[in-house]
Order: sequence, then C-alpha cells, then structure tokens
Amino acid sequence: MTTDKMTDSYGLHHSILPSNDGLYGEFGGKIEHPELAKAMDDIEQGFREIIKDEDFIEEMSRLRQTYVGRPSPIFHARRLSAHCGGAQIYFKREDLNHTGAHKINHCLGEVLLAKKLGKTKVIAETGAGQHGVALATAAALMGLECEIHMGVVDIEKEHPNVSRMKILGAKIVPVSRGAGTLKEAVDSAFETYLDELDSSLFAIGSALGPAPYPEIVSYFQSVVGREARTQFLETTGNLPNKVVACVGGGSNAIGIFSGFLGDKEVEKVGVEPAGEGLETSNHAATMTLGVKGALHGFKCYVLLDEDGEPAPVHSIASGLDYPGVGPQHSLLRDMGLATYESATDAECLDAFMALSRLEGIIPALETAHAIAYAMRVAKDMSPDETILVNLSGRGDKDIDFILDKVKL
Ligand SMILES: *Cc1c(COP(=O)(O)O)cnc(C)c1O
Repeated sequence: MTTDKMTDSYGLHHSILPSNDGLYGEFGGKIEHPELAKAMDDIEQGFREIIKDEDFIEEMSRLRQTYVGRPSPIFHARRLSAHCGGAQIYFKREDLNHTGAHKINHCLGEVLLAKKLGKTKVIAETGAGQHGVALATAAALMGLECEIHMGVVDIEKEHPNVSRMKILGAKIVPVSRGAGTLKEAVDSAFETYLDELDSSLFAIGSALGPAPYPEIVSYFQSVVGREARTQFLETTGNLPNKVVACVGGGSNAIGIFSGFLGDKEVEKVGVEPAGEGLETSNHAATMTLGVKGALHGFKCYVLLDEDGEPAPVHSIASGLDYPGVGPQHSLLRDMGLATYESATDAECLDAFMALSRLEGIIPALETAHAIAYAMRVAKDMSPDETILVNLSGRGDKDIDFILDKVKL
C-alpha cells in the first residue's frame, strides 16, 4: 500500500507532461470552444486535486487490487520464444484484468474523477464497444449513469459488447448520420455533453483528444509500466531490451512505455496496423505514413486523404482503426524516444493463432499486432535478450471473426 501511495504521486511521468497550453512539443493542445474550454479546465483542476488526495489514492489502490485484480502478472512465454528461436518473449498480462483489457485502468480513474467533481453521469463514444464496456462497468461500480454513443454500423457488428453495456445499465445512443461509425459517434457524444456540462463528464477512450485527456489517461495507465518495470527486474534481474505495445490511440502503449522512459537502453516500440499493406490505402499506420495535422480538437500525426480530410482507415482490429494518434506518441517519435513499426492483418492473424496454440492465450486482435512484431524481431535477437510485450487484452470478443477468417 505504502509503495503504491508513494509511486502514485504526481511527479513520476514528468518527462511527458504537457505545457500550460496542453502541448507536448507541437502536439496536443486545448479546445477553443469557450464553454467546452471551461469544462476542460474544471476537469483538469479536479484531476490535479484528486491525484494528491489521500482518500482518492487509497480508494484507487483498493479497487486496483480487489476489483481489477492488480498487479497483473508478467509471464515468460517459453514455447512462443522457442518457436521464434531467438529472444525471450515476456507478457504483461493486462488481459487478466476484470473486463479483459487495459481500458478499465483509465475508466476507473475517469469515473472516480466524475464523482469527485459532483457529476452524476459519464458520456462517451465507442467504436468496437471495448471502451463502452469498461466505462459502463466502472459506472455501475460507482453508481453513476452511463451514456454511450455508438454508430449504427458498429452496433450491428459488435453485438455482444452492446448487450454487455445494456446489462451493465448503460444507455446506448445509436448514431446513424454519416458513415455511422466511430467519428460520428464522437461528434454525437460531444454534442450531448455540451448540453449537459454541469451534470456529466466526457470520458474519453484513449490517450488522445484535447487537454487534459491525454495526460489523465496516461496517468491512470502508467500503473502498467510502473508494475512491469519492478516485476521484470524481480523476475529476470535485468531490464528488457525492448518494450512493445500496439498503438491505436496510444493508451496501452503510453502506459507501459512510461515505466521505462528513464531507461535509455530499453527500446520502446509501438506497433500500428498495416492492414492490407502499407502500399495499399487500407491501413491505419498513422506514424509510419501520416503527416502533422489536427483531428478532434488536438494536433498529432494524422492520415489525410487527397482533400486534406482525415482518411478512411482500415485494420482487422477495430480498436486500432483511427486516423490519428495521441500527442505524447507523436512527440516521443519526433524526439527519437520511441519508434513506431507496423504489422499487417495477415501477420496479426498468424500471431493470434500462434499465441493461442503455443501458450493457451487467446489475445485481442489489437494486441496480436504487438505480438506479430515481437515474433518478427525475436528471431534475429540472441536467446539472452528479452522483449516485453503489453498483452493489452483478451480475444474472446474476436473468436467469431477468427472462425470466419482462419481455416481450422
Ligand atoms: C482499445 C484497445 C486497444 C487500442 O487502444 P490504445 O488506446 O491504443 O491502447 C488495444 N488493445 C485492446 C485490447 C483494446 O481494447
């Protein structure tokens, strides 16, 4: 408990804190809309207060242990490592958290923050439904209303998650305008939020968006990297040579990277979806092929179409399907403190099956991108070198899709 208290103090991820303007270098930034700007300032101030508040620290620590099941273990994937024939591969098992992924880490924080600010409701968008389920879970636990905006196309596609959210007591708002997917769901959720600024908190799903969201989400995810560093040292006596995570918006990656930002010798690698190939237009490799731009109220690397609009993107993993990326990753990349690689849909499917068959762990399709990259580079490394992968989530949600794609 005491260690958790001390390490939870604010100073820890100082190396990627934003300026007063919410900027990380030239990325990120604050929203200009006057009413929203005021709401964002209130959230920021509330956040700075609670993270120093003894009661909050105590409650977060208790919920992490008794509700989420933290600390999640580190696992040495011996058969997968032997199969690749090189470096030893380890996993940080965020898939073992309650609700099956890392998202519960920041959703708990956001819901506790909403309570602290006297709000009775959380509002959010969801794409594949993963963020919606984690938020609905945390809201049920804290007795808050939860309203999730979701495109009609996604509602059709992700039915099990829609059912979960409903069972958990969330209200689902179907969004049919435009393409009826994530982007429209964000717009719709923000519009509702504007009407209910006093009673509700907008709870974003990744380490992106306008300030203070990237900071808040990465703060609550930093528990992953902090635990992982200590556990890895205890288990192996050394730091890993590489720390690898998949990157959609960037929350699981910034969470695990943040534990190792002070360790120059540890190479941090984010893995983006190369979809059907970087040479096609069906991918979401924002860092690899994007340009500096803006999206949903913040500056970052972004994939644009010929008209300069955010491009339609593709990945086999709907949780990675976003044309932008968090501002902290955009800065880490420009500073050379992390590198960003990619894995294709096909590599992802191979990694998904390899981990299932060799270790008895069915990973999320998102996570399988990080595993695919680790498998690719492990074979060219020596057996006394190590790779630590953030196993961001489990793949139960993906099994029907896999049965359609893979011949068993
Ligand atoms: C949502 C999700 C991701 C992608 O989101 P990040 O914010 O980039 O971490 C990755 N893995 C799983 C299991 C997810 O649910």
